[in-house]
Amino acid sequence: MRFDIVTIFPGFFEGVFAHGIVRRAQAEGLIEIGLHDLREYAHDRHRTVDDRPFGGGEGMVLKPEPLAEALEGIGVCAKAERGAGWEQGSEAARERGTNRRSFDSLRSAPVAQDDKAASGTRVILLSAQGRLFTQQVARELAGLERVVLICGRYEGVDERINEIYCDMELSIGDYVLSGGELAAAVVVDATMRLIPGVLGNEASGEFESFGAADAEIDVDVEGVPRSQHGAGGLVDYPQYTRPAEFGGLRAPEVLMNGDHAEIRQWRREQQLRKTLKNRPELLERAELSAEDRRLLDAIRSGEKI
Ligand code: SAM
Repeated sequence: MRFDIVTIFPGFFEGVFAHGIVRRAQAEGLIEIGLHDLREYAHDRHRTVDDRPFGGGEGMVLKPEPLAEALEGIGVCAKAERGAGWEQGSEAARERGTNRRSFDSLRSAPVAQDDKAASGTRVILLSAQGRLFTQQVARELAGLERVVLICGRYEGVDERINEIYCDMELSIGDYVLSGGELAAAVVVDATMRLIPGVLGNEASGEFESFGAADAEIDVDVEGVPRSQHGAGGLVDYPQYTRPAEFGGLRAPEVLMNGDHAEIRQWRREQQLRKTLKNRPELLERAELSAEDRRLLDAIRSGEKI
């Protein structure tokens, strides 16, 4: 899978992608990350990429022309051109990006309705105004061939870039960052670890917070102990390691007795407890069994389980 990031700070990502799983995934050729400096697509002496907002107000806005040229330069065509298929459209886009021809007619051609689904590519604008980035969105992106991420700065990006090129706006949370770079790094990280082969064990991405329910996981996957529990939309259970005693607290005995059935039950109860305490809204759409509901009632009423 390939990620392309358009940014005014390509250097920002040097450290971010140089460690751990994301570094290994690149080294093993499972993912590729292309960084594209927006200023290379500005043609004045000062390599200007921003301008004052129409209508007045604070700050500056990223201008549309350098962004359009950057996108076309990396083979991203306008949505209106994708009816011809991404590859064909991309050729035209690359040529236009290279030759700096007019962008005036980009909105005029009709958009093919099913093109996005067929293309295997998504063009994403990082924005506090976007759809919330969740594990479910990460799963959707992990099935694609290519994700293009546009990082805003200042007061944001001229909206016509969104209208002409972007398939979706994504927000990583209800707060405002000073730029889209941190958000892009979050999207790349959460997405790439769900690509088959990136995590050592094929199933380890399943047994995590917001992961699938047990029933949807093939628990016979080699190397997955039967003591693990699928989250089914809940947060994960707490983890402990050696030493058994630390800071006056002992790790739960049940985890050390080797009884996988008991461990599974304890972990499920902990998932329910943590979700109820920290993210109660998740319980509304979680897949809960009759046993889960019984445990939840007991937790709520303070009953001993
Ligand atoms: N004026 C914008 C607003 O109020 O929605 C905020 C602009 S912000 C200072 C600059 C850039 O940071 C945005 O264009 C976007 O790319 C990025 N950004 C800020 N918050 C974000 C978030 N929660 N998720 C994703 N990107 C974000």
